[in-house]
Formats: sequence, C-alpha cells, structure tokens
Amino acid sequence: MRRPKQEPQRTCVACGATKDQRLLVRIAHGPDGGLSIGSSPHKSGRGAYMCPNRECWAKGLKGTRLEHCLRTKLTDENRAALLQYLSSLQESVPNGKIYTKQE
Ligand SMILES: [Zn+2]
Repeated sequence: MRRPKQEPQRTCVACGATKDQRLLVRIAHGPDGGLSIGSSPHKSGRGAYMCPNRECWAKGLKGTRLEHCLRTKLTDENRAALLQYLSSLQESVPNGKIYTKQE
C-alpha cells in the first residue's frame, strides 16, 4: 500500500493501450496554434497521448487519428514538430534485444 493514490490513466491514440498518464507523452494544441509535446505548462486545451516509442508516433502521425483526437487540423509546422520529436524517440525493441533475421 505504498501508493494510495491511483495514477490517472490515459489511452495511447495510436495503439489504444491504457497506461499511467506519466508513462505517455502528451500532445496538446497550444493557443498560438503550435503543439506542445511532452510536459506542458498549460493544462488547458485538448490533449492526446501516445506511447514514447516510434511505432506509435509513426502510426499516430499517419492518417487523421491524432487530428481527430485533438479536434484540429495539423499544419505542416505541427507535423514537422511531431516528426522532430519522433526522431528523438527510441526504436521500440522488445526486451532491448535486436532482432536478427533467421530462417
Ligand atoms: Zn501506443
């Protein structure tokens, strides 16, 4: 009973996994039309959440999933910011092992 308070749960918009909020990356639409990614100083606005791995970001960036969740159209600038964040993420590798192709 070390954690009496339950962590708020959020759902990744890409893979649909439900996790503790702090384990997901928050994407929110700022008042200036830009996106705030990660920890946000503003708590206002609609936010979407995604797992911090490339697979989910690539999936989330494809199509209109993210736009739908944020209820906005993503501008080229928004996408560029998301892609930049994506490039800083780790490749999701199960158990930290690199798969090698074996027949
Ligand atoms: Zn995910």
